[in-house]
Amino acid sequence: MAKQNAKGALLGLAVGDALGTTHEFKALTAPDFPSLALGPLTDIVGGGPFGVAAGQVTDDTQMACCLAVSLKSKPAFEVGDVAGRYVAWMKHAFDIGSQTSAALGAVANGRSPLDAGRDVWIASGRKAAGNGSLMRTVPIAVHFAAADGARRRASMLDSAITHYDPRCRIACAAFNAAIAHAIEAAPADAAALVAVARAEVDHAATALLAEAPGDAAAIAAAASALTNDLEAAACDNPDLYGPEMHIQRTQGFVRVAFRLAFWELLHAPTFSAGMIENVEPPRSLHQHGPGETALATFEGQARESGLLQALTVVGAGEIVTERRTMQGR
Ligand SMILES: [Mg+2]
Repeated sequence: MAKQNAKGALLGLAVGDALGTTHEFKALTAPDFPSLALGPLTDIVGGGPFGVAAGQVTDDTQMACCLAVSLKSKPAFEVGDVAGRYVAWMKHAFDIGSQTSAALGAVANGRSPLDAGRDVWIASGRKAAGNGSLMRTVPIAVHFAAADGARRRASMLDSAITHYDPRCRIACAAFNAAIAHAIEAAPADAAALVAVARAEVDHAATALLAEAPGDAAAIAAAASALTNDLEAAACDNPDLYGPEMHIQRTQGFVRVAFRLAFWELLHAPTFSAGMIENVEPPRSLHQHGPGETALATFEGQARESGLLQALTVVGAGEIVTERRTMQGR
């Protein structure tokens, strides 16, 4: 059953990517939280800004495949091998995130992968914290489902290649801990997965502090912020229209994706509902003036990004639910 759950987690990533890309860059309305959006897209039809075929995936799943192949071909997580595969992929990419592009460009020019990721973060004033590494991270959860230490290390190293900010690195570790628990535990419910993620935030922060004591303040702030996100995810309204965390104004922010993923896990009744809900772009569009319409046009992309995390966790969670149903028969 663990193998089936692992497949579900990986397929959740690809399915969500293929579904979500159709509405990238579009602005649509959505009901206020906690009501779930019921459309408009309920099937994978392709199209979108990249003109993909129905079922075709984008950069996020492609990078996850690079990561998966590296994990399968090496005895342990090797940051140089993973980064080399990302660089090789980049030459063929039809879409790539800005932080990812900057870091991999530096790697291609000879910078070591971890230095490249850190450079991008420092150059941003230690502010860049996009959701790119979180979107591709699930193969690590699958590969190291039963190995907490190896999974934590790989999650944070992979993120560091392109998304060095402690918020990104710890989010990947916490997210993968929840997915791994969904794969391995029999049975686990959504609240248990959130509890696992919450505990992992602290474990990952401790591990990161030992590695980079000079970043102690950023690491402590990241752990606190991600803990707050998990608390917000449990509320009917996850407070994603505030000044700091805004689903439209900070759409690519890792914390938006992280919070939304766990909100879907706790609130969407099924994998499909969570998926459709996330493809629906902005909520509460009517709350904003016409001048903000341009911002909202980027919402589709943001939702597509956030979708991937939600799908992976929700997908794994639903498989657990199905297992429970089967056991109850
Ligand atoms: Mg994409």
